[in-house]
Amino acid sequence: MTRPCPNCAKPADLTPENPHRPFCSDRCRLIDLSRWFDESYAVPAEPAVIPDADEH
Ligand SMILES: [Zn+2]
Repeated sequence: MTRPCPNCAKPADLTPENPHRPFCSDRCRLIDLSRWFDESYAVPAEPAVIPDADEH
């Protein structure tokens, strides 16, 4: 059972024998992870919750 690797689109083994699934290799998995980190660092952090000061 194979599906295209999300990173390089090569056929990736989806069986438990492939520890890197759904990627074809450890390298593709790391590339995808670093892409996520790059995006999270590029976006400035915003306050998650703004307290409602008007409520008394
Ligand atoms: Zn790949």
